[in-house]
Amino acid sequence: MMSGENNTITETQKVSGSVPSVVPDQDHATVEFAAANDRDHKYLTQAVEEAYIGVECGDGRPFGAVIVHKNEILVSCHNMVLKYKDPTAHAEIIAIREACKKLNEIKLSECELYASCEPCPMCFGAIHLSRLKRLVYGAKAEAAVAIGFNSIIADGVRGIGCYHKSNLEIIKLDVSIAEQVFQNTKGKFSI
Ligand SMILES: [Zn+2]
Repeated sequence: MMSGENNTITETQKVSGSVPSVVPDQDHATVEFAAANDRDHKYLTQAVEEAYIGVECGDGRPFGAVIVHKNEILVSCHNMVLKYKDPTAHAEIIAIREACKKLNEIKLSECELYASCEPCPMCFGAIHLSRLKRLVYGAKAEAAVAIGFNSIIADGVRGIGCYHKSNLEIIKLDVSIAEQVFQNTKGKFSI
């Protein structure tokens, strides 16, 4: 694939349910699709539960994130955009900030991030900058786009992935609970 091809994907293609392609070029983000093992399933389920909690208590929109450090949950949080009146308070950003504070580090190279949904470009940038070693996500962006979220979300791993040159391992887990969050919370929060 030629460099920059990702950026030419049309809105129609993104919304139609296309999934990230596995890009062999090492200068691009490579997404591995996997069935959930017990460990990944446990942490991703926690991230999905956070997405529900965030909406229930009015903190934000249905997105959750968990950071695991040495096989222990270090941070479990959700989108705080509505409570903080901060459009950057995405679950992944909150998680990275709290994890760095807890570890007193600016690098999270011993940590894994579990996100209920595919990260947006801002979060993918933060994941890259924080040197997380592994990203595991559940829902594909289209599930969020289908209930009204901006389709820019799908550019995180796919579009600007051409800047991704680290050793970050990216896994898209095949779990339906992550995509069900959007339909189940639809109408319970403002976009
Ligand atoms: Zn984000």
